[in-house]
Amino acid sequence: MSKKYVYLFSEGNATMRELLGGKGCNLAEMTVLGMPVPQGFTVTTEACTRYYDDNKKIAPEIVDEIFANMKKLEDIAGKKFGDKSNPLLVSVRSGARASMPGMMDTVLNLGLNDEVVEVVAKLTGKPAFAYDSYRRFIQMFSDVVMEVPKSSFEKIIDEMKEERGIKLDTEFTADDLKTMVDRFKAYFKEQKGIDFPTDPRDQLIEAVTAVFRSWDNPRANYYRRMNDIPYSWGTAVNVQMMVFGNMGDDCGTGVAFTRDPSTGENKLYGEFLMNAQGEDVVAGIRTPLPMDKLAEIMPEVHAEFAATAKKLETHYRDMQDMEFTIERGKLYMLQTRNGKRTAAAALRVATDLVKEGLITKEEAVLMVDPKSLDSLLHPQFDTKALKAATPLGAGLPASPGAACGRVVFTAEAAVEWYGKGEKVILTRLETSPEDIEGMNLAQGILTVRGGMTSHAAVVARGMGRCCVAGCGDIGMHEKEKYFTLGGKTIKEGDYISLNGSTGNIYGEALPTVEATIGGDFETLMAWADEARTLKIRTNADTPRDAEQALSFGAEGIGLCRTEHMFFEADRIKAMREMIVSSSEEQRRAALNKLLPIQRSDFEGIYEAMQGNPVTIRYLDPPLHEFLPTNEGDIEALAKEMNMSVADLKAVIDSLHEFNPMMGFRGCRLAVAYPEIAEMQTRAVIEAAINVQKKHADWNVVPEIMIPLVGEVKELAFVKSIVVKTADEIIAASGTGLKYLVGTMIEIPRACMTADEIATEADFFSFGTNDLTQMGFGFSRDDAGNFLDHYYDKKIYENDPFAKLDQNGIGKLVENAVRLGKQSRPDIKLGVCGEHGGDPSSIEFFHKVGLAYVSCSPFRVPIARLAAAQAAINEKRGGENLGQK
Ligand code: PEP
Ligand code: MG
Repeated sequence: MSKKYVYLFSEGNATMRELLGGKGCNLAEMTVLGMPVPQGFTVTTEACTRYYDDNKKIAPEIVDEIFANMKKLEDIAGKKFGDKSNPLLVSVRSGARASMPGMMDTVLNLGLNDEVVEVVAKLTGKPAFAYDSYRRFIQMFSDVVMEVPKSSFEKIIDEMKEERGIKLDTEFTADDLKTMVDRFKAYFKEQKGIDFPTDPRDQLIEAVTAVFRSWDNPRANYYRRMNDIPYSWGTAVNVQMMVFGNMGDDCGTGVAFTRDPSTGENKLYGEFLMNAQGEDVVAGIRTPLPMDKLAEIMPEVHAEFAATAKKLETHYRDMQDMEFTIERGKLYMLQTRNGKRTAAAALRVATDLVKEGLITKEEAVLMVDPKSLDSLLHPQFDTKALKAATPLGAGLPASPGAACGRVVFTAEAAVEWYGKGEKVILTRLETSPEDIEGMNLAQGILTVRGGMTSHAAVVARGMGRCCVAGCGDIGMHEKEKYFTLGGKTIKEGDYISLNGSTGNIYGEALPTVEATIGGDFETLMAWADEARTLKIRTNADTPRDAEQALSFGAEGIGLCRTEHMFFEADRIKAMREMIVSSSEEQRRAALNKLLPIQRSDFEGIYEAMQGNPVTIRYLDPPLHEFLPTNEGDIEALAKEMNMSVADLKAVIDSLHEFNPMMGFRGCRLAVAYPEIAEMQTRAVIEAAINVQKKHADWNVVPEIMIPLVGEVKELAFVKSIVVKTADEIIAASGTGLKYLVGTMIEIPRACMTADEIATEADFFSFGTNDLTQMGFGFSRDDAGNFLDHYYDKKIYENDPFAKLDQNGIGKLVENAVRLGKQSRPDIKLGVCGEHGGDPSSIEFFHKVGLAYVSCSPFRVPIARLAAAQAAINEKRGGENLGQK
């Protein structure tokens, strides 16, 4: 039998997510559970990938299968698609494997045309409803399928409101809506040069095609990249019989969560609108009512919904986000999915579900997206400053956190200002999916319209971005680039501050303070720590960063970049003297000035780390990076060094490199000038001895790391200097201090000769930043200029500097692990490139058998959680229960 591309809801279930998408498999599961789901069918994700394989065409046999299922749906519904006496109308909605809210397109009321609308008007006795549905259909179909933007139709609606002197959509009469339909169609013809399509069969296939096409639109591509969703998955399409929330006052529609998606509180939370269709709730054009109000208006429906919601939550063992419609007093469930939530809510829900006995601790650990923790760890407003400030006004506290930045009015402006290094607040009448990039780059988002489930609110929460939504008091002048609020005029570029936890808006820049993390966080992290086998270290160059990381749970320092200690004003002078020295004697004199500075820096770091392991990397960047560039500094240095300005300039010129990233850096510096390694060793060992003496109960064992090694002999050479220097100092001190000497593995040649290198190295730490740079052959500083072209052309789906390229660079790592262990079975293995804080890369490092990952302090909790998930997933045989 040939492949099946279309499934009735009654033929599927929750295990078929890959094939039916999230929405499709949950509609099928709710059908199995006997819940009131308007029936329909799902065109599979395989039909979508086939569409792309077939040059963006739906194969004729799939078209036939769609219509065969439409026939079955007609039998179930007792109505006929396009019929002149009892017509069936459907919705066509996308539904990928991972939920991508607002990223793809939906068409409602499909199957309407000039004749069918009359039949609907007669059958229902509600011509206003029939024409309202028709005008919505024209609007959505034009936008989604024919690329005539929705906003042009909104303009016609606004014009008509003005002409009629009314405020709300619901005030339009049937005749008004009929006129509106005529105007819409005329506008469509004017734009497209053809009549609006009237054959429902054509409408259906066009709409399915448009959903497939939307998988590849720019905002979907951007969202996927942000959320690690592969392009190859494709989307399913759900064709579902329409039920109507806009048929009158005993009808309505809403969105609700089984728990509060901002705080996690166990309480039905959501909003609805009477006499409306689904898009009205999310679009934020009318302000919806809270769910409690439904209990007053329709107590039975509310009770049935609450019971269904609880049942779904217990069934899926996770907080649900549901869409429902009430048609003439009867409840219908249109969708359920695991709800997007803030990080705070995610922690509370996960820990509460364990307490309620619904899930295990391991399942709770899998339930929280590690990246979401970011938002918990970021600054809040300084309480004093906040108290002293008076808000200009307030909107809804849509996504918590504190944000401060300059106002911009379009997503493009956000991108542009961000590119200039500015922090921005994206301020919009309402946001739409096209704004995604601007929203991501903004510190915070402020909207005039929209509720807690509006696009801005949902997307911002998902991103962990601060958002204040629906501040109707704002007098918005987007085009003129200013708004008014609380008697003040705020122009583009002015500073404002948003409190996403209270909804308050301030017309000034408010200072922020570090975040504090609470009980649920500690509970979940303790469960994560029980589960993980990877150790988590941090990349820190200062005692302050080290302390921060320790408070977030770091178990050591995996990378201390010593060059960062030389940039400060009082040190750079000695560093420059060292570089321009023309004799060893001169160089040693300069290094002697640096020695006490380095030693006290290292003491500070050992103290901060309280006996936990500390890996110190020797000087890495090319020397010219430290040299003066302006005339004044050059003259001063020349004077200090007793050189002529011309001679100094000649030295500077001689240090010029065409490609410094592949030039005179890393261990090459110590090969040329061993006295640098000697001084650094002296500083490391003396500091360790001093701190060990003060804290007898600590076990200070310095780990000395030589960077950019590509050949075992260069490591052997530098190591011989380190060992000689260290052993002399230790012998003189009579302490018996232990220390390790290892290397970074960050050059492809080192990966291929790791067996040789391991003979000289106590440990390897993978420098995946350089390894990616040298493995791909493109510069880590310049790749940003062209990577966008690679995303557009689907050559790369992700930035390989952020997410490890497991297929290529990963193989280099695997090879080095294998070879390294071969010649030194007890070799310590870790990673300290940026990938050490990226969850999917962490899973890879776990799998290849590293002992630790090291990342920046704020990513330590993310790494702890990701490492736990990797261990749990491995134990469960790769099955991933984590949410996308
Ligand atoms: C690396 O290359 O991955 C690394 C950690 O070193 P740096 O980023 O300092 O070059
Ligand atoms: Mg490096």
